[in-house]
Amino acid sequence: MRYFEYSQTLMGTKVSLQLIEKNDLAAKIIFGSIKMLEDKLTVNREISEVMSINKAAGKHPVGVSPFVFTLIEQAKAISIAKNSCFNVAIGALVKLWKIGFQNGNVPADEQIQYCLLLTNPHLIRLDKQKYTVFLEKTGMEIDLGAIAKGYIADAIKKLLLAQQVNTAIINLGGNVLTVGDSPLSADGYWKIGLQKPFAKSSQPIVVIKIKNKSVVTSGIYERFFIEANQHYHHILDPKTGYPLDNELQSVSVISHSSMQGDIYSTHLYGLGIEKSISYLQETPSLAALFVTKDKKIIVVNIDSSLIQLINKEYVITNHSFG
Ligand code: AMP
Ligand code: MG
Repeated sequence: MRYFEYSQTLMGTKVSLQLIEKNDLAAKIIFGSIKMLEDKLTVNREISEVMSINKAAGKHPVGVSPFVFTLIEQAKAISIAKNSCFNVAIGALVKLWKIGFQNGNVPADEQIQYCLLLTNPHLIRLDKQKYTVFLEKTGMEIDLGAIAKGYIADAIKKLLLAQQVNTAIINLGGNVLTVGDSPLSADGYWKIGLQKPFAKSSQPIVVIKIKNKSVVTSGIYERFFIEANQHYHHILDPKTGYPLDNELQSVSVISHSSMQGDIYSTHLYGLGIEKSISYLQETPSLAALFVTKDKKIIVVNIDSSLIQLINKEYVITNHSFG
């Protein structure tokens, strides 16, 4: 049995779609749609719907497509939740640090403090009747980098099903979403390998079995730079304006919706291991796998039969509260 793989570089990453039957038309529709969605959501180009909102900050509301509105609405809701580590209004800081771009550098602390004043998610004003978004302070910027890929993965799944493509695996540079049962295993589970942090080639440390679910990983090795022997990665602390600093190298969230997985992989990364475990204890519908800097893999709310350790340098512990 072999897959037909279609891939393109989009959203600054390799996007791949694997199908069990050749279907050039479906692939063309999928990649065309991803491009269309990216064109509206990106903040890495001068023109997009989100850039129009950002450029009008402090000036006037901007009308956007209904899906862009809903995405910002959901991102705002999680951003204003108590103790959230996810903040969709973090754009000014992301642009200041430029982490993951060639000219990334450690900004002056005064600049960071100044940008922090521009990241209050309560100042995103939404008008549901008119589908407009208004950032109340000049210099504010929305950044959907921690949610957009998840949203797009879910949209691709809907498009595939609409075209009667019922078996597929989608990978948006670390956001993996499976559709239907895997034809490769008797139990229908797909095996998803989680890569060793910072490894240059493909080296899975652990394999997770999933069905009709998504696995989204946020990690400190995805985008980073090193200055004066210090490692600065792309997930910023909404409270301090600096990269979040804790014991974790990555968090992978297993969930039905890839968008939820994307939101929570960023949020749980920020919470760190202890607070995440308490959080997941109260949220049994959410499952996650944490990789720590000292080579521990902590699995929460996942049946141990669905996890296989590959790299024996790591030690697994399992918490199950469900
Ligand atoms: P992810 O890989 O999903 O955790 O998303 C990280 C990306 O989201 C970064 O590259 C930034 O564009 C943006 N970002 C950084 N820090 C945050 C944060 N605390 N909350 C929301 N988005 C963030
Ligand atoms: Mg995310």
